[in-house]
Amino acid sequence: MPDTQTPKTPKTPAAPAAAADPLMLIGGAWVPSRDGRTFAVENPARRSPIASVPRAAAADVDLAVQAAARAFPSWKRVAPRERGRALLRIAEAIEADAEALARTLAEETGNALRTQARPEIRTAADIFRYFGGLGGELKGETIPLTAAMLDYSLREPLGVVGAIIPWNAPVVLAAVKIAPALLAGNTMVMKTAEDAPLSVLRLARICAQVFPDGVLNVLTGYGVECGAALAQHPGIAKLSFTGSTAVGKSILHAAADRIVPVSLELGGKSPNIVFPDVDEEWVVTGAVAAARISRQSQSCTCGSRLFIHESIYESFLEKLVVKLEAMRIGDPLDEETDMGSLISRRQFDRVCAYIAEGTGNRDARLLTGGLPPTDGLLAQGYFTRPTLFAGMSNDWRLAREEIFGPVICAIPWSSEEEVVRLANDSHYGLAAYVWTRDIGRALRTAHAIDAGFVQINQGAGQFPGQSYGGVKESGIGREFSLEGMLESFTSRKNICINVDTPAG
Ligand code: ADP
Repeated sequence: MPDTQTPKTPKTPAAPAAAADPLMLIGGAWVPSRDGRTFAVENPARRSPIASVPRAAAADVDLAVQAAARAFPSWKRVAPRERGRALLRIAEAIEADAEALARTLAEETGNALRTQARPEIRTAADIFRYFGGLGGELKGETIPLTAAMLDYSLREPLGVVGAIIPWNAPVVLAAVKIAPALLAGNTMVMKTAEDAPLSVLRLARICAQVFPDGVLNVLTGYGVECGAALAQHPGIAKLSFTGSTAVGKSILHAAADRIVPVSLELGGKSPNIVFPDVDEEWVVTGAVAAARISRQSQSCTCGSRLFIHESIYESFLEKLVVKLEAMRIGDPLDEETDMGSLISRRQFDRVCAYIAEGTGNRDARLLTGGLPPTDGLLAQGYFTRPTLFAGMSNDWRLAREEIFGPVICAIPWSSEEEVVRLANDSHYGLAAYVWTRDIGRALRTAHAIDAGFVQINQGAGQFPGQSYGGVKESGIGREFSLEGMLESFTSRKNICINVDTPAG
């Protein structure tokens, strides 16, 4: 291998082979698992298998880590701006392949093509483009010590990054790890989620046309067989995990055993706070967006605890019911569909159990939704209806645990102090939403809330450049921004030179 490698020039902007049964990417080659085992990927809107992928285990993890370790010395010597150019080429190639990527994503996740899958692919391209321009920012500082000393710092890559991603926004979450980690000069082994590996493999095909062999390796496999083996592999210099808080804790344990730095983006139970001075009609739309209903609320930033001031509680809920009932649920590939299906039988059963718990509680009022239909078109997939419970207490399990399904708990409140206390009474601290026309109140509340990502009068997703991440059990570290890249994927080396050496 030459000392420095420049990224490959892509043969065509994007010509990923849409193989029915895709393979994994290790060391630039597309390979099955070493023992030949596979597992099926299901279309959750039809409950039917659509492909088989390799079932990677420890031996495959080892091969991938070795490939990434071999590629590291050369990749870290590629000039940062050159690495950035590789990301820019990938952004172009993603856009050229956007429709096929979005369809694959919609088919394997059940997310609606129009409202979710296409925007997700656009965001992934934006992420590559954003980081593609940041190569020059991998800079250090000089420190004024004495006239006889030159002291400066370098930002260095860490080595092989082990990345583990979930299924809920697989392409964006892959992009948000690949782009900053590789721009910073690291190489990577990524494990896709077992429920949604296909669109990330398609993205990997695009990346493999641009990155030198081994710089990015992508595995498909189960959490305990493949993910845990990756988390424990001695060749991994950094772990970057997005997923549940329970698994995040096991990743942190694995990292502690070897003193490996970790980024964790975990769950949430985010407060959505409505003050009494709002334009209710307008905020209802925003609150539905914040609750991520068109993604079946399968989002860590879902604003599922809806705190409505008691003076507008009933009128706001009336408008919210109308809005939720207008959502078109159905085939994710249908352009009319607002909301698709949940990802899997496991999630479907979990979400239904929460809904059954709510309907079985005599103090909770079910305003719309409830258990999913048992016959008709929607019963053919893992479809659920937007479900709204009123009369909720912040202490109930439905208001404390992350449901990852379209269930909103509406909780009344009377004073600003009370609502801040209720909002912070959670072991999570990821996102929060505040709705009011009073700017002082909005800022006071935003500042008082324990969360990494607060929005005032909007319920949007994250934009590249925003330092997104959580506090408390919602995680450690930030990845979406320049600072996130520097903190999560580089280490600082300090170099001190005595310039007062004898002449000669
Ligand atoms: P979800 O409930 O959203 O599926 P998980 O935290 O279970 O979230 O999964 C997120 C990712 O973590 C997936 O890629 C999954 O395979 C992986 N995973 C699950 N269990 C483990 C584990 N014990 N060690 C490492 N990775 C795991």
